[in-house]
Amino acid sequence: MLCPACGHPESKVVDSRPADDGAAIRRRRECLSCGHRFTTYERRGENPVIVIKSDGSSEAFDRQKLMRGLLSACAKRPVTPHQMESLINGIENDLSASPRGEIRSKDLGDMVMARLAPLDDVAYIRFMSVYKDFQSVEEFAEALNDIS
Ligand SMILES: [Zn+2]
Repeated sequence: MLCPACGHPESKVVDSRPADDGAAIRRRRECLSCGHRFTTYERRGENPVIVIKSDGSSEAFDRQKLMRGLLSACAKRPVTPHQMESLINGIENDLSASPRGEIRSKDLGDMVMARLAPLDDVAYIRFMSVYKDFQSVEEFAEALNDIS
């Protein structure tokens, strides 16, 4: 989504709302380079769900990226590629039902962890340690206790 004012490729989503009876999503965006605000209409189905990162920037949901994360979390663990594929398919299904067409990266991480937990404890912990911002060792230990 290039900025119409300066051509910068990155913008953050300021506001999203369904348009045209939910067939499209109207987004207010702000250019990360020049601050210009503009409106886009994005048709559902044509555009992937947007992942909003904690710093406010956004990126398209990328199943390859998620798969890479899962592969490293599940390295040498008894989780099959097929299980990872179905995990990602389940998440894509849930995301496509999102009326605003967007999800916070933290919530996406939580969705992955909820599905990973029943598959393998070690993969779950590895994934969590990457996706959660632990403030202290104690917090991390607490999180470990929660699942044991
Ligand atoms: Zn700009």
